[in-house]
Amino acid sequence: MAKRTTTRSVQQKPAHRHGKGRCVAILKKLSAYIDDELPGTLCEELRKHLGACPNCEEFVASLRQTVALCQHQPAPALSQAERARMRNDILRAARPR
Ligand SMILES: [Zn+2]
Repeated sequence: MAKRTTTRSVQQKPAHRHGKGRCVAILKKLSAYIDDELPGTLCEELRKHLGACPNCEEFVASLRQTVALCQHQPAPALSQAERARMRNDILRAARPR
């Protein structure tokens, strides 16, 4: 039975299931671009998603270097180990629990 949802003035929490749908798609793309500069379109997508998704926002915020890539700033050179660690973190976050 479906309950009718009424619009409330109370701020609704965004429906977010980490490890499902958009999140996974975003995180996987992110991991694919660790070695490169993020293309503008992906940046847009990423920012939009992050704006609506506290979990991902928090996660990506911890990947400061990723954000730096996204802003097309001259990012500090990442060592192979750093890239590997970032990719690992992302894939772990993207894995369904
Ligand atoms: Zn998310």
